[in-house]
Parts: sequence; structure tokens; C-alpha cells
Amino acid sequence: MYINGEWVQTDEQFTVFNKATNEPLGDVPNANAAQIEAAIQAAHVAYKTWRETTAYERAAYLYRCYELMLERQEALAQLMSSEQGKPLKAALNEVRYGADFLLWYAEEAKRNYGATIPSARHNQRFITTQQPVGVVAAITPWNYPISMITRKVAPALAAGCTVVLKPAEATPLCAQAMFEIFADAGLPAGVVNLVTVLNPRECGDIFCQHPLVKKITFTGSTAVGRYLGGLAGQHLKRVSMELGGHAPAIVFPDMDPIYAAKGLALVTFLNSGQACISPNRLYVHKDSAEAFLTELTSRVAKMKVGGGLEDGVAIGPLINAAAVEKVDAQVQDAISKGAQVLTGGKRLFTDEPNRGHFYAPTVLAGVTPEMHIYREETFGPVAPVIIYENIEDVIEQANDTEYGLAAYLYTNDLSTAIKTSEALEFGIIGVNDINPTSAAAPFGGIDHSGLGREGAREGLQEYLETKVCGIALS
Ligand code: ADP
Repeated sequence: MYINGEWVQTDEQFTVFNKATNEPLGDVPNANAAQIEAAIQAAHVAYKTWRETTAYERAAYLYRCYELMLERQEALAQLMSSEQGKPLKAALNEVRYGADFLLWYAEEAKRNYGATIPSARHNQRFITTQQPVGVVAAITPWNYPISMITRKVAPALAAGCTVVLKPAEATPLCAQAMFEIFADAGLPAGVVNLVTVLNPRECGDIFCQHPLVKKITFTGSTAVGRYLGGLAGQHLKRVSMELGGHAPAIVFPDMDPIYAAKGLALVTFLNSGQACISPNRLYVHKDSAEAFLTELTSRVAKMKVGGGLEDGVAIGPLINAAAVEKVDAQVQDAISKGAQVLTGGKRLFTDEPNRGHFYAPTVLAGVTPEMHIYREETFGPVAPVIIYENIEDVIEQANDTEYGLAAYLYTNDLSTAIKTSEALEFGIIGVNDINPTSAAAPFGGIDHSGLGREGAREGLQEYLETKVCGIALS
């Protein structure tokens, strides 16, 4: 762990495994309450001076972190592929995406503007400034174990906040590698602190209740987000929550179904489907359904499954046995209710010991609202396809979810694109675009997908308080 500028070891440790082979990758400290407290205290002390640094000084640190991240991108990607499971190329993309947040907020740190506001009184002036919220506690997930760290830490530091971060217990080694970068970039002691724990509950409770923590930023499941948000609310802490999703993708009849199938095959199976913006319901018009399903199935059937470091692999392992269990239960439920398996639909390598947790990339046709997969997040390599007839109805169906993170649509018609993107109740819309994300674009959802935005100008605001100064002139 990294607390107050020192690497800290503990008597008690836990083991991290390679997700493709189940072999041990290393042991990491298991923090106790006193160590979590020490990290918060260190962040509190460091905040007093960090907040006084100029935006230019903070930008220089962030820029140095960005450079180090790029220098180490290959090693970071290798580690991520082993620890998290995604194919090496995808891991490299994530490292670069993660680095972008450091660069972008190095620049944005200098654009933290205030305002002057006209007063109704002749002798009065109003000035607003934006000040850092204080110590931030960050909790990050395993599916994007590096970019979710920089997406939180970069804007927090740019704003002048200090951070205590707890990574997911499945991927603490990626977090350690990022904190080596923060340390090597020369960030002052206590500005960023890392605590690793096997059982996150106690740490989350401390973060949400601690008087010195002013803000909780969390990325993870909706269930845990609801719990942490509730607890933080009792203590009136600010929160940002990036939670689950259940993204619809609508292919309109004017669009080439082959083109749409190509794009949706890529995005649906990205990170083996373990992304909160993965499409979970693919709506295809009945006139183009056959061509779409043929193309999608042929592409998915060819996807090579294996360890992320193996050549040509498109689909890595799932994170653990429970994840495979959940995917399979949803697929079996869909089959029992009439869905057809066009490819996949089964676990893989089940007779090979220590072969990770693999599920065959799957296309399901004939999916209906009665099936669990229609409403529950899958977080696995499954493309559930629904055939529709009526364009008005399909938007209503797409919105029929408690989640509101991402949605995708394919059309060549400008009016359809604009009207549909306005009607879809989601925070992120991809119009003929399977990658509607960037450090420069706000990421976040509505309803049960969370609160607040990360990335972009909005991402900096999450770490700032507005202060108004009313000045009476003599
Ligand atoms: P998933 O189900 O995808 O693993 P989680 O929401 O359980 O998602 O995990 C996301 C992050 O939240 C991880 O860092 C995990 O350790 C953390 N987490 C899970 N439960 C709690 C909790 N009760 N308090 C604090 N953090 C938690």
C-alpha cells in the first residue's frame, strides 16, 4: 500500500491470481482499520498544502504522470492482461485511454474559472471561485483496473483535492503499478494514498462515515452504489456514482445490417462483455434481421477465446467462477423460455484444470421481455437479439429499463438519429458509433446507472465547490 509517500506492508496479505490460468500473481497487503485511518489522515494533512499549489504546478505533476504512463504502457498492459484477463491489445488501449485522463486534466486544471455577477446594489460586487472539496475517497472496479483510477485521480488532483483510493480486490496489482507512477512523478507525500483490502465492506463504511472525507467517488455495481450512496448521504458527503447499465442498441431498417452487425459484434464482446456500457439488448428490424443475424453469428463464432496474452485472442476469461455461473444461468433461462442459441451458449475448457473462467461468445435470437437477460446486467460475452416491427415501439422498449447509462443506434437518416438520441433516456448515446467515450467527453448515467459525470469539464466540477464572495464597497 502507499500511505503518506511510503510503501507500507502488512502482516496479513491476500493473493491475487492470473485470471486465465488461476495461478498466483502476487500477494498484496490487507489493510486494517488503523491503516485506512492513517491514509485518510495523510490525505488530510497533505490537502492543506496541495490545495495551495497553483494549477500550473498541479498540471506539471499530472503531465509527468502521463509521460511515465506512456513510457510504461507495454508493461502496464501485460500486467493488466494477466491480472484482469483482457486481450493484450485491449489492455494497451485501456492504458492509453487511462493516460488520456492525466493529459486532459493537466490541461483542464488551468481552466477552473470563476465568475463575476452583477449585483442589484451599486456598492456591491459578487465574485465566485471554485475550490477543491477536500479529501476524496475513491473506490474503483476490476473491469477497467487502470483507466478507472486515472478517471478519478486526475480530476481530483487537478481540482486541488487529495485522494485515498481502494481498488477492487481482484486487481490491486494494476493499482500498485499506477501508484508507482504517482510516486515516481514526485507527487508530495499524502496527496495520493492506496489501501488494498480483501473485504471491502469495512473500508467502504470508514470512507463514508469519516469526518475528514468530503467526497466519495465510486465505480461498481448498482447494489453496492446504492449502499454506499445511502451511507454517504447520512453523513452528507458528496458522491459520484458510476454504476451498472443495460444498454440497448437499435438498428434501424435504413441501415446496412452488415455494417451494424460488424460494429455491434465488436462493442458487445469488448472486455468479454464486462463493461457497463456493453450492449445488452440488440433490437433489429424484422426486414434486416436475417442478414444481421447471419453476419453477427459468423463474426462471433470466429472469435478466439483464451488467455489475454495468447496470440489472436478476442475473448478473455471472465473475472471469476461466479461471473460464469451468472452468465450461464441467464443463457439457460433464456433458452428455457424460447430463445435460440445461434453460437456459443456454453462454458469452455471445463475439463482443463486451472484454465480460468471462460464462456463461449454467444448469440441469442428470439429474446423476449420475460427472460432475465432482457433486464439484468449480464457482464459476459452474450449478444441477445430482439426483432422488432414498429419504430415507435422500439424506442419505448429500449427505455424500458431501470438503468440509464449507454444506448446505441444505427441509422443513416439524420432526423431518425437526432429524434432517437433525444428520446433515449440514457447518459451516453452512440450514433453509428461504438466508442462514444473519451477523456474529453462526459461519461455517466441516469436512474440506477448513477450520479454525476466523469471525464470532460463536468468531471472536474465533481471535485469542486462553488464559493461566492459578496463585497460591499465603501
Ligand atoms: P462487481 O460486482 O462488478 O465486482 P462491486 O460493486 O462489488 O462490483 O465492486 C466494485 C468495487 O466496489 C470494488 O472495488 C469492490 O471492492 C468495492 N465494494 C464492493 N462492496 C463494497 C462495500 N460494501 N463497500 C465498499 N466497497 C465495496
